[in-house]
Amino acid sequence: MEKKKIALLTSGGDSPGMNCAIRAITRSLLFHNQQPIGVDRGYSGLLEGNFRPLKAADVGNILQLGGTLLRTSRSAEFATPEGRQKAMDQLKQHNIHGLIVIGGDGSYRGAHALWQEHQLPVITLPGTIDNDIEQTEYTIGHDTAVQTAMEAIDRIRDTALSHDRVFFIEVMGRNSSAIALKVGLCTGAENVIEPHADVAYQEIVSGIERGMKRGKVHSIFVVAEGQKAGRSYEIQEKLMQDYQIDSRVCILGHIQRGGSPTAVDRYLASIMGAKAVDCMLNFSGPKAIAMQAGQVVHLPLEKCLQKSSGSDSKTLQLIKEISI
Ligand code: ADP
Repeated sequence: MEKKKIALLTSGGDSPGMNCAIRAITRSLLFHNQQPIGVDRGYSGLLEGNFRPLKAADVGNILQLGGTLLRTSRSAEFATPEGRQKAMDQLKQHNIHGLIVIGGDGSYRGAHALWQEHQLPVITLPGTIDNDIEQTEYTIGHDTAVQTAMEAIDRIRDTALSHDRVFFIEVMGRNSSAIALKVGLCTGAENVIEPHADVAYQEIVSGIERGMKRGKVHSIFVVAEGQKAGRSYEIQEKLMQDYQIDSRVCILGHIQRGGSPTAVDRYLASIMGAKAVDCMLNFSGPKAIAMQAGQVVHLPLEKCLQKSSGSDSKTLQLIKEISI
């Protein structure tokens, strides 16, 4: 096979396991006698021509590290056609044949635009802690983020128990309840307050009172942060004002983003990385790597750009049922 330069980058929010994907892509390209080119800082790096050839040793010892060796960014300029033209000029100038993107929903849209406007071969991998990409049951980093949040909440429960307290614990996930629902189930939360739902105060109060009647003096509620962190403080204030219920708030924040990836994230990021290289070398249109029915598959990228409602009402119902 002719030796070609294939670029790879990480974009949007970082997630644990991105490094495993970088390693797998780099080594797999080298195995197939191709030249991997690392792009520093996502789409901003594309605009600046911030490229470097990667050797096998460059990606050694990174499997166990959170964050991303290639660093990441958000670029308003790349989101414009003029910005993408500039990126394409850089890619042409460096004789780069194709691009593998590890990122979230926004990064997928950017990659798709490069294909549509410039016919650049692109392959995407789902890299986000939020598990909110269409058509895939799994995104790289979600498992680690759930594990981290779960361990933090287990610790908070010790205090909730010792002091008979009601806690609102806020977890990450912009528009997605995926972390909140999994963590809620894993930590025995009373309820999960989803990003788009109105807060059902009466339901919260009834839950606390029901618990008290059977001798339970502490409660944990998981709050999905939604568009802006800090929603829990509003809930806390209203509960105090209208129902005289004292509570504590803990916002887990960026602690959920970092840290060493779990085995699940390392394993799947490695398989997905190799699959992305396979799709690039046998290119037949832009593809997204995904997990469906437990299998790592590839599918047309545009299928992942159509948003469905994505709500998981079954898990929420189960959390309520088994926390009585
Ligand atoms: P994520 O990939 O984690 O969802 P963002 O939404 O911030 O993160 O997207 C990452 C980058 O992808 C943005 O900074 C922008 O450069 C690019 N991008 C996002 N949305 C689009 C879009 N609709 N069209 C083209 N590029 C986009």
